[in-house]
Amino acid sequence: MMNDTKAAVVPVTQPFLPPLAEFLPYLEQIWSNRWVTNDGPLHHQLEQALCEHLGVEHISLFSNGTLALITALQALEITGEVITTPFSFVATTHAIHWNGIKPVFADIDPVSMNLDPARIEAAITPDTRAIMPVHVYGNPCEVEEIERIANRYNLKVIYDAAHAFGVQRHGRSVLSFGDMSVLSFHGTKIFHTFEGGAIVCRDAQMKRRIDRLKNFGIQDEVTVVGHGINGKMNEVQAAFGLVQLQHVSEAHAARARIDAYYRERLGHVKGLRLHEIGAGSTPNHAYFPVLVTPDFPLSRDALYDELRARQIAVRRYFYPLISEFPAYNGLDSAAPGNLPVAQTIAQQVLCLPVFPMLEREVQDRIIDIVLAVAASTVDAVQ
Ligand SMILES: *Cc1c(COP(=O)(O)O)cnc(C)c1O
Repeated sequence: MMNDTKAAVVPVTQPFLPPLAEFLPYLEQIWSNRWVTNDGPLHHQLEQALCEHLGVEHISLFSNGTLALITALQALEITGEVITTPFSFVATTHAIHWNGIKPVFADIDPVSMNLDPARIEAAITPDTRAIMPVHVYGNPCEVEEIERIANRYNLKVIYDAAHAFGVQRHGRSVLSFGDMSVLSFHGTKIFHTFEGGAIVCRDAQMKRRIDRLKNFGIQDEVTVVGHGINGKMNEVQAAFGLVQLQHVSEAHAARARIDAYYRERLGHVKGLRLHEIGAGSTPNHAYFPVLVTPDFPLSRDALYDELRARQIAVRRYFYPLISEFPAYNGLDSAAPGNLPVAQTIAQQVLCLPVFPMLEREVQDRIIDIVLAVAASTVDAVQ
């Protein structure tokens, strides 16, 4: 039977919104004390709560993750060249460019989809000052190996940890590796403040420096030091973060159930490769990427079209590669021949919907489409 009512589009992710009633007391507090931004009481409270929740010592909140990335590079006074991954959201490379630094792309590992340490080492030149890896899909990079390279060549390491909220490696926060880690609290991320972000750093002196930089470089009423910017998180964002934080474990549990069910039903489909989190690391189930390999009867793009045609808004994170955008494709390191693994992964990857409110019934529909289109194509061929 035809269904006249157009089925609602299932997004790949959906912002988690706690009950409005829990948010209102915080708004009343802001309305009564009239402190709306600039290191307000809720901002302070959220920094403390996040340090505790994440198991880190120093965190500085930002209005978004991109400004946090830009400021992290500023705070460490990075110049010259920074080695980074082409397999990420474009903000990673933009942050490097906005500092007048030359991004240098290195290839990724085919399993982790994170920067390949051997390729990092091969990309080092006398101008290299830092490495900016990404914990893609919340799967930790080879942090120990990257640390060894950084120490050997005297490089700074700034992790783009936008996907890695709450991720631990051997019981330690993955955010505690490198010189700094940068989080995004954008609405599409697993913990969000509508827009927002943060820098996790190693010591109090660096936190003071970052806090100054995000507030125009203002030290006191008459003193401006350094080239600051406006990257401050406001009190409404901080309030929302405090409410949201009370729901992260329940949201995580819901994501874990969704993840497990996909694995149960799609784990043995010929030609689909599911993403494995490295040993010793705790996943946060922020994304559910699958690789559509040549052994699958359809191409990634054909499967994408089939799902899209049925209102499932799957996404090709990350395609195209950052190195393919006109802003960066002129760089020597952007040459496809330099990035063969990233090229292949970008052609094969497809992210399936995962968010706490995703119902089992909808998830079954998504899985059934994947199984059906695979099977019918096989039948047609046979
Ligand atoms: C979301 C994201 C960012 C940017 O964060 P915003 O808060 O949206 O500015 C940067 N890097 C990666 C890998 C991201 O996924």
